[in-house]
Amino acid sequence: MVVHSERAIALTCPACQLVQGHEFSLFRLFEPLQLICSCGFSQGHFRKRRKGYELDVLDVNGNRVRMLFSKRELFHTDLINVRSPSSGQKLGYLGSPQVVRETIETDAHSFPEVPTDFSNPPVMRQILDILQDLAIESKIRCVCDRPMVGLDVYADRVELVCSHCASTVRISATTSEHVHSLARVGEIVMEPSYARHLEALKPLN
Ligand SMILES: [Zn+2]
Ligand SMILES: [Zn+2]
Repeated sequence: MVVHSERAIALTCPACQLVQGHEFSLFRLFEPLQLICSCGFSQGHFRKRRKGYELDVLDVNGNRVRMLFSKRELFHTDLINVRSPSSGQKLGYLGSPQVVRETIETDAHSFPEVPTDFSNPPVMRQILDILQDLAIESKIRCVCDRPMVGLDVYADRVELVCSHCASTVRISATTSEHVHSLARVGEIVMEPSYARHLEALKPLN
């Protein structure tokens, strides 16, 4: 039986929406593998547990997903399609580095291009860090009936967008003042945008 110790995991980053690959050796999983995207966003980690290997990450919409993979699955499968157990949404791939790399290449055209040349990279990194902390504590939410808040990252700002009601919150990310003001925010509650639309549709009598 051949054991492949080199493995790769590729996940779509909720911050920059790009697929980030991480290669690692199973023999080095005595400490958790931190899954940090090249945009600076820390998506979560992959680690050894008593009963298998645990993936604990944020999905594309910023929702926390925890999954367990058996030793057998991890050591002997060339390609695992990683999907969120609750929503069925595709998160990425786990498997042999070569197969994972080839699969990302094939997929590449289907993912949106985003600017990676941020106006102020250190500021953007801090803004994304703060947003990540808020997301982990469920402190970013929309008050519409089916909230699905995602993150759009631009060179100079981040936009929180609820894909259900289209409510949008724009957060500038170019100066340290933007970091300071966001750091003071304890919670981001988004107003459902259709409430305003309904208001506008009221008859003028
Ligand atoms: Zn990223
Ligand atoms: Zn909403």
